[in-house]
Amino acid sequence: MLELTVEELLDRFRHGDRRACGQILSLVENESEEATVIFDELYPLMGRAYRIGITGPPGAGKSTLVEKLALECRKTGKTVGIVAVDPSSPFSGGAVLGDRVRMTALFTDPGVYIRSMATRGSLGGLATRTKEVCDVLDAFGKDFILIETVGVGQMELDIAEAADSTVVVLVPESGDSIQALKAGLMEIGEIYCVNKSDREGADRMVLEIETMLELRAKDGWMPPVIKTVALNGLGVAELFARVLEHRRYLQDGGLIVERRRRAVRADIERLVEEKVRRVFFENPDARVIIEELVQRVVAREMSPYQAATRLWTEIFRVK
Ligand code: GDP
Repeated sequence: MLELTVEELLDRFRHGDRRACGQILSLVENESEEATVIFDELYPLMGRAYRIGITGPPGAGKSTLVEKLALECRKTGKTVGIVAVDPSSPFSGGAVLGDRVRMTALFTDPGVYIRSMATRGSLGGLATRTKEVCDVLDAFGKDFILIETVGVGQMELDIAEAADSTVVVLVPESGDSIQALKAGLMEIGEIYCVNKSDREGADRMVLEIETMLELRAKDGWMPPVIKTVALNGLGVAELFARVLEHRRYLQDGGLIVERRRRAVRADIERLVEEKVRRVFFENPDARVIIEELVQRVVAREMSPYQAATRLWTEIFRVK
């Protein structure tokens, strides 16, 4: 239960109260009853943040890179939200090892808001409300939102949908397993980053990625491949510059508007689908009718098609 009313909570949120932001994020993440009204209220404040997805195989250096990228954003005076979907991320409290202590700078910076997401489902599926969590941080006024996820399986598609620019992080010594991963990762990156370039094979890796990308100009954008050493920040300024370049490209061509329009359309369609499902399958009137129809179909008095049509007309006459 909330100690505050939703109105009070929203009021605090609008005044930049971080605790209120945390509470709102939890409500949204848990799909609580209040989430819908909160979302409606905050909607006019959303749509300003620029969202950067950082994905790649475990151990590629995503967390380290996110940290450095956040610092780079802060240098320009912009505020940052970090959403860690990766359960092993130090931002999620996953790795509290010695060398992670340096991250405290970000944790205590009022211009940075860090949120880790609980991953749900089996096989480490992507937390379902990642996009909404980003939306809330957007409404909270963050200029950039960095979303860190492990690039395995389905997740990378989700991240590509939630982000304006997707950065794929790979490392020089990629073995066979990464080779397999790459198929998916090669589809979604707008910027490729060969991290751990202090190690041997970085240039070869850059060439290899460039070759794989040759046939692919996504919406007319040729993804650049850059080298970074997240550990000491080398190349991170260039990475940030490339992200800004991609943002300019999206803005100038009107693509960002088009992309967001597409996303909104998909959202509306998904919500309508959910509503229709609810009308048919959670509504007691519908249940009674369905039971009757099942009997009649079993008795071969009507076909399933006729039953579906009957259900449809009955419900929409009642409703
Ligand atoms: P993640 O699992 O992709 O988030 O990877 P981490 O950021 O946790 O990094 C995995 C390990 O690689 C850590 O021990 C980092 O210190 C190390 N690491 C990250 N970036 C670099 C780099 O550029 N060079 C080297 N040599 N090590 C790095």
